[in-house]
Amino acid sequence: TGTAGMKLQLQAIPAAPAADALGRPLRDLRISVMETCNYRCPYCMPEDSVDDVALGAKQRLDFTDIAQIAKAFVAQGVRKIRLTGGEPLLRRNLPELVSLLKRIDGLEDLALTTNGSLLAAQAASLRQAGLDRITVSVDALENDLFRRMTGGRGDLFQVLEGISAAERAGFLPIKINCVVQRGLNECQILPLFEFFRNRGHILRFIEYMDVGSCNGWCSTDVVPAAEILARLQSAHELIPLAPTAPGEVAARYGVAGGGEVGFITSVSSPFCGDCNRARLSVDGKLFTCLFASAGFDLKPHLRSAERLSTEISTLWRHRTDRYSEIRHAADARKKIEMFFI
Ligand code: SAM
Ligand code: SF4
Ligand code: SF4
Repeated sequence: TGTAGMKLQLQAIPAAPAADALGRPLRDLRISVMETCNYRCPYCMPEDSVDDVALGAKQRLDFTDIAQIAKAFVAQGVRKIRLTGGEPLLRRNLPELVSLLKRIDGLEDLALTTNGSLLAAQAASLRQAGLDRITVSVDALENDLFRRMTGGRGDLFQVLEGISAAERAGFLPIKINCVVQRGLNECQILPLFEFFRNRGHILRFIEYMDVGSCNGWCSTDVVPAAEILARLQSAHELIPLAPTAPGEVAARYGVAGGGEVGFITSVSSPFCGDCNRARLSVDGKLFTCLFASAGFDLKPHLRSAERLSTEISTLWRHRTDRYSEIRHAADARKKIEMFFI
């Protein structure tokens, strides 16, 4: 995908924020730029069930189309965009997309979530292209456990090198995501906290969620955030921090003596009431919830900016999703896999 010959007009657009059927504005957009991954974390893409998820380059939106759609979302109120996947750094020439998105007037924050394996080589060019923030996922600091938690594929050293490269490129602080699973990496809670706090980064513990249908999720595998918090409090003094923005997903705590830690409590304490996030799949479908079973195809509307904006606005205004709040009553429908969105 190249930027040559692009005729995007990315000038200022008046914001006309859409609110959904439950009064929630549209503020945040996640864009999956790559459905495949070089890891096979069992909670996301278990090796035995996702051999051939690759869509192939032709089915992926190209960068011009992604930027066109992103611009329409910004016109409807989006202020933050996060690039994700799958593994977004597998997408060739990603800095080109970053610089296109960065030119959209009204966008305030452009971030990326990565497993970090390919970050060492790309951190500087992503920064130069205008990326504001990076989140890296690290579930363990012991090499063998890390490898196991990435489906036998990850190399912890490479990821730590990637984080160092991101530090040098000026991405400070870096957010570190850790999914805690019962009986698997609970022993890593304190080591991860201390290691990343000492480096000035912000660790966020994410409750293991029942996303998708292939990970065999079971509620007994979830370590509730309150339990993780209690473990940290046995060694450190933590002070609750006020949210920085409405719809912020992490419950944040300051650490006496410096530092910050966050908890994403999607299972134990759902935050659907404030959810202002839309998701765009790699093949151009809009999903209004992480747990949706179907998305709305935006590709047919790509050629008209006005049409695209109208479709997004209409879809958002009809949105009633609140899966995490009704999880126990929800039916057993097949849900979209997280790496698509
Ligand atoms: N590959 C990149 C990475 O791992 O950071 C980006 C995509 S990954 C789907 C985004 C985040 O979702 C990661 O932090 C990952 O740990 C988290 N995640 C994946 N499956 C999850 C699950 N079942 N429950 C909670 N978080 C999950
Ligand atoms: Fe890949 Fe990220 Fe999913 Fe792990 S969590 S399999 S690194 S997409
Ligand atoms: Fe938002 Fe859906 Fe998650 Fe609720 S379950 S917070 S509506 S993505």
